[in-house]
Amino acid sequence: MEGFRSLGLYDDLLDAINDEGYEEPTPVQEQAIPLLLEGQDVLGVAQTGTGKTAAFALPVLQIMARRGRPSGRRMIRALILSPTRELAAQIGERFGAYGKHMDVRHHVIFGGVNQNPQVKALKKGIDVLVATPGRLLDLIQQRHIDLKAVEFFVLDEADRMLDMGFIHDIKRVLKLLPNKRQNLLFSATMPRSISKLADSFLNNAVRIEMTPDELTVESVEQRVMFVQTKNKKHLLTQIIKDHDVNCAIVFIRMKHSADRLVKELKKFGIKAVAIHGNKTQAARTRALDDFRRGKTPILVATDIASRGIDVNDVTHVFNFDLPDEPEAYVHRIGRTARAGKSGVALAFCDETEGFKLREIERLTGERIEVEEDHPFHFEEAVPPMKPARPHNRFGSGRRKRSGDKRQNRHQKSRNHKGRGQNNRSQQNRTGGNRSKSHRGQKGHGQKNFREKNSNHNNSNQKNQTQKNRSQNHRGRKGQKRPGGSKRDAHQ
Ligand code: AMP
Repeated sequence: MEGFRSLGLYDDLLDAINDEGYEEPTPVQEQAIPLLLEGQDVLGVAQTGTGKTAAFALPVLQIMARRGRPSGRRMIRALILSPTRELAAQIGERFGAYGKHMDVRHHVIFGGVNQNPQVKALKKGIDVLVATPGRLLDLIQQRHIDLKAVEFFVLDEADRMLDMGFIHDIKRVLKLLPNKRQNLLFSATMPRSISKLADSFLNNAVRIEMTPDELTVESVEQRVMFVQTKNKKHLLTQIIKDHDVNCAIVFIRMKHSADRLVKELKKFGIKAVAIHGNKTQAARTRALDDFRRGKTPILVATDIASRGIDVNDVTHVFNFDLPDEPEAYVHRIGRTARAGKSGVALAFCDETEGFKLREIERLTGERIEVEEDHPFHFEEAVPPMKPARPHNRFGSGRRKRSGDKRQNRHQKSRNHKGRGQNNRSQQNRTGGNRSKSHRGQKGHGQKNFREKNSNHNNSNQKNQTQKNRSQNHRGRKGQKRPGGSKRDAHQ
């Protein structure tokens, strides 16, 4: 708990953290909490599973308590936008847990369910609103929601928001917020569209980053298996049975294939449930609850439905189909190895998916180990060998942008101000050279995260970056693959 105490959190929050059983802050919490407590805007490149919800919820709760609640009816002081209902519900649940010793009322709203209970809760007055964009705008239009008292705006999983076509909704919401407010944007990936969006509403944001290549390489044991399409279900069944897998998510592209796979697994005596966009909210909630409680060991999910699934004991993630967008791979495998646990991510690659595999490897800058010691190995599915190199949206492959000189000036001038984070920045500059060395150390203690030393900027905005290597809260696996030889895909 000392780590949390040193961040300057109030006792009420420390008690709640203690109740949750958290011992030390995660790297993203270590970085974001002091900045947010200082009143900074933050641009966080981190995926779910890194502890990012607490990274923003704790400081938001603390600042709200510090300022005190204005007299009169409760007004919405913090607005958190989330792409999916599941993630929204999960964030709401976290606010409840962290704020349980405080006088803070939160509520979650999302579409696909009757709005009346939501309207009733809003009428009573709430301090923190977690919402998906569509239902939020609906209720604003019906004058059930007023955003004029918002002091904190959090845009969570911004990349997924944009993938889901929410950009116009986000812009509409931004127009309704008061100018004076603190902003936070979290995204698992940082394509140009997100940088642009961030530029449009963050002020002097400090950027903190945990790159997906490190997350993927260090915290999850990944392998790819080459297999014919028709044999994927047999391979899956065999692994589940041979390794007694009892808490796994199987990612699949199409909704109807998810339902079909559930039926196939049942034929082999494996209990599974599907979760996808065509299911009602009630069915999705039930499926997730059954999975969480261990009643159903296998969850078959499409990407969108799976956003925000927060189950700490997921031991395996199966990429039954490789995702169309390489970024989704990072999101998917982040469902395992959560909260200090280890995890295995297996990708099934058929004869049509080789280019997707290579795209993933380009994005993460890592080659995924090949597992060929299985009865369904299909050599023809192995794609041509091109060297994997980090995509320049990420990692060391990022090209310098024209604003970099200016950014360095900003950073220097901030360093002179003697702020807390500057120590880290300076330390980071000297420890910057990322190399293969820390990647190839499976089994050696804890993994390192790197916060990158690049940022973006426009005339109104300077994003200060911290480059740091801090230890992850998760333990490392270091465990061996169950059986079989492995070879690098590019050998
Ligand atoms: P998130 O990235 O916010 O979705 O959090 C992922 C999981 O990590 C959640 O189950 C949290 O309860 C858990 N978690 C968050 N912070 C910590 C921490 N400091 N120590 C241990 N677990 C944590």
